[in-house]
Amino acid sequence: MTDSTVRSAVSRPSPDSRRRPRPNCYHPSMKDPYPHLLSPLDLGFTRLRNRALMGSMHTGLEDHPARYPALAAYLAERARGGAGLIVTGGVAPNGVGRGGWGRETFSHRRAVAYHRLVPEAVHEHGGHVCLQILHTGRYAHHAKSVAPSALRAPIARHTPFALTERGIRRQIAAFARTTELAREAGYDGVEIMGSEGYLINEFIALRTNRRDDAWGGSYANRIRFAVEIVREARKAAGPDFILIFRLSMLDLVEGGSTFDEVVTLAQAIEAAGATIINTGIGWHEARIPTIATLVPRAGFAWVTERLRPHVALPLVATNRINDPAVAESVLARGGATLVSMARPFLADPDFVIKAATGRADEINTCIACNQSCLDRIFSGLSVSCLVNPRAGSETELQYTKVTAPKRVAVIGAGPAGLSCATVAAERGHQVVLFERSERIGGQFNLAARIPGKGEFRETLRYYQRRLNVLGVTVHLSTEPDPAALDGFDEVVYATGVAPRHPEIPGIDDVRVVSYVDVIEGRVPVGARVAIIGAGGIGFDVAQLITAPPQGPDPIAEFAAHWGIDMTLQQPGGLLPESSAPSTVARTVYLLQRKQSKIGDGLGRTTGWIHRAELKSRGVHFIAGVQYEGIEPEGLRIRVGDAVQVLALDTIVLCAGQVSVRPSMEAADGRERHWIGGAKLAAELDAALAIREGAEVAARL
Ligand code: NAP
Ligand code: SF4
Repeated sequence: MTDSTVRSAVSRPSPDSRRRPRPNCYHPSMKDPYPHLLSPLDLGFTRLRNRALMGSMHTGLEDHPARYPALAAYLAERARGGAGLIVTGGVAPNGVGRGGWGRETFSHRRAVAYHRLVPEAVHEHGGHVCLQILHTGRYAHHAKSVAPSALRAPIARHTPFALTERGIRRQIAAFARTTELAREAGYDGVEIMGSEGYLINEFIALRTNRRDDAWGGSYANRIRFAVEIVREARKAAGPDFILIFRLSMLDLVEGGSTFDEVVTLAQAIEAAGATIINTGIGWHEARIPTIATLVPRAGFAWVTERLRPHVALPLVATNRINDPAVAESVLARGGATLVSMARPFLADPDFVIKAATGRADEINTCIACNQSCLDRIFSGLSVSCLVNPRAGSETELQYTKVTAPKRVAVIGAGPAGLSCATVAAERGHQVVLFERSERIGGQFNLAARIPGKGEFRETLRYYQRRLNVLGVTVHLSTEPDPAALDGFDEVVYATGVAPRHPEIPGIDDVRVVSYVDVIEGRVPVGARVAIIGAGGIGFDVAQLITAPPQGPDPIAEFAAHWGIDMTLQQPGGLLPESSAPSTVARTVYLLQRKQSKIGDGLGRTTGWIHRAELKSRGVHFIAGVQYEGIEPEGLRIRVGDAVQVLALDTIVLCAGQVSVRPSMEAADGRERHWIGGAKLAAELDAALAIREGAEVAARL
């Protein structure tokens, strides 16, 4: 069997409209740079135009019928950009399976009308689209959640009801019914979400399945639920319908499956009628990072590769694949048949078309920050993207071409200024960008130096390329005076921030340094260090000064550090004991005045990783600190009634920032636009800066 003619249990040809050729968005002769990624995949009854699967990601748009036009626009843009197969965000097959009350289910025929918008929009651009059916099981945020056993998840508020035999049958029927409705709505297939610790996964793992009936106990019993769902879904959909099963290949929790069990399940899923098996890595309650920036690129592709010899179905590799060259190498070495990228398509809808037309250096790369996507979703907000504020706002934030171009000056080439300059130029304005320092990027230059945050360099590369492509005039090492701004129709100030210098007695001591100097390596850092301020930058500095040296194999080192069993002998893929704490030759105190938990303000889905990482390196967290003064003996602090003097070699100031604002006369009579840190330093983050830059540019 070859990858391009995949035998599957569903290969009967169908005369229906799915077989009609679909428009392609790039010329096939341009596929050379990534021959594996860009080669089509023949599933027997339909043909995917390439191996790039846009993985499922909940956007919030799936939850309400009124938002389906926006969902269709969002996915249409990704189909137009070349995604081969799109999987929607998860939609529940019934009420108890919903993530939260008030969200839509796809369990009734009247929903077909608004769902239809999605496949219509995707098909218009030559793509295929599958609906993800997601039953959240015990992860649901409502009191009627169900699971195989009444065991509350550590990340859930409610204890689920244990399903009765009848209840189990009803859940299976609900999956089949949604599959049938999805077909009626025009989807090309469905993805059955069987991983990440949701309901199906809960049946499979001993951790969550304590039943002693036909649905629990032996492994054969525990996978019965998954297998019956696939079998019933296949019956409901007919043979010529894509049926993806997302299979948890590495649970990363205690009481998870062994790899032998994963193989057994995959073979049973194949026999039950699936078309494709997608990879799931880690339950939501796992305490091992699986998609954050510090996970090496393609850091889990090896898991899918191990399954490859055991099944004939196409397999999808996932997690931290954000670059066409990385995707190509996973496919070229035979590790998978397709690669799934979810967040990279948020960051750049044109990912595939750029790769296919020799413009990979123009891709706006996902930096795996989670800040505007998953952190927002887990806070009940709709999805967007830090590097692409249009994501999820396709119908509202439009970069329309102008008929009367203006001369626009943007002052400051940090994230806000770069965003503004490039969007304004994209719209047709003549843009001149002034930057005081000798390079573009502002605070991103600092972020890119932090271990595990190297992806920020990609954003700098993207903006540099964009400035070149759009013909923006860039003046580096230049602070324009008012005369230099004469002749511009619009002036945008993106002059950024400067570090705050807190008022602490003795602050001018020679041991006190700024985070900028530490990150740029301009000052030596001693063996005993206090970091004043435990915000994002305080954490970054702590990471930097305690980082172990990097070895030659980042994936093996990552696995060893987080206790992942790369031999796949252990249940859940966890080593019996996590690796020993790193030995760090520095004593580091991370201090804040607030009483709250250190790192409370960090990202919702990544903060725990940073805290765990620093704890493993022995960093001391002290909250509720009053800084009494810097003395020859060290830093005198009070915590409650206790006073102590920390003997220190270096004190790093990470106490936030203040706006940098040039003279207000500079814009002289014209409307002035202030964006990013220059507008408001407090609470500023890169996502807001980039969004503000784009929004102002969209209005000019
Ligand atoms: P920040 O998050 O506002 O943190 C500033 C820290 O300084 C706080 O811990 C604050 O805590 C302390 N502080 C403020 N005023 C002080 C004073 N007068 N004296 C002593 N301490 C003072 O700012 P940042 O760390 O500079 O980060 C800037 C922005 O970049 C933030 O939006 C941040 O979220 C973002 N960022 C995020 C990450 C990440 O999530 N990993 C990484 C880097 C940057 P107390 O007032 O309690 O002492
Ligand atoms: Fe990627 Fe960050 Fe954008 Fe999410 S917000 S898609 S992680 S760049």
